[in-house]
Amino acid sequence: MVATSLVPSPAVAPLLLAVDFDGTITMRDTLHVIVDEYGRAGVWDELEPDLVAGRITIEEAMSEQFRTVTATPDEVSALIRQRAGVREGFTDLVQFAEQRGHRLVVMSAGFRSVIDLVMADLGLGHLEVVSNEAIFSADGCTLVFSDDRGELCELCDRRCKRHAMRVRHEGEPVVYVGDGISDRCVSGLADLVFARAGLAAWLDERDREYLPFDDFHQVIDGVKAFEAGERVAA
Ligand SMILES: [Mg+2]
Ligand SMILES: [Zn+2]
Repeated sequence: MVATSLVPSPAVAPLLLAVDFDGTITMRDTLHVIVDEYGRAGVWDELEPDLVAGRITIEEAMSEQFRTVTATPDEVSALIRQRAGVREGFTDLVQFAEQRGHRLVVMSAGFRSVIDLVMADLGLGHLEVVSNEAIFSADGCTLVFSDDRGELCELCDRRCKRHAMRVRHEGEPVVYVGDGISDRCVSGLADLVFARAGLAAWLDERDREYLPFDDFHQVIDGVKAFEAGERVAA
């Protein structure tokens, strides 16, 4: 069928769709998958008292943990392909966004090399991605935190995704899709939030509205309703 046009419909105002990667686009958190397979067990438990007490930052704790991950880039790629899983409908969401003229940005606290692998396999290597990076090696993994993360966020006292959203936002309505801790602050900047797992529980505790989702077809339907001006909060 050739009726579908890639020219954005002028009837629909452009949106900014920001989508988390781990546990949102993927079925499983790739950081957990990598650490479980190639990291030393128990590292996080050893670090947690220092982290909770504020003696080390989350970035330092993650770096310590990933230093124990001894795997080559090829081993990590094979593992991700085998275990990460891609949530149903993501490619359809990208196509929907492109047809409508909405901007879609992958906003991740995870690693560029892993995201690029998954996106390339999906034929979506052109998407804009915000993330950190991990350099995998048989001698241990080195994390590289993006220096494009701005100042400490006043809500969480970390360098969180709010900065990435603020520097990209051009005044259009924002839709955010996520599942975890890194999505908390930034979800407060969105006009429409899709949440699952820990993010959904956190929003519930605060009586904040969101739409639950298990796949991206539900996200597409929710965005269509939002475009049409329907009240879509759950
Ligand atoms: Mg996540
Ligand atoms: Zn924050």
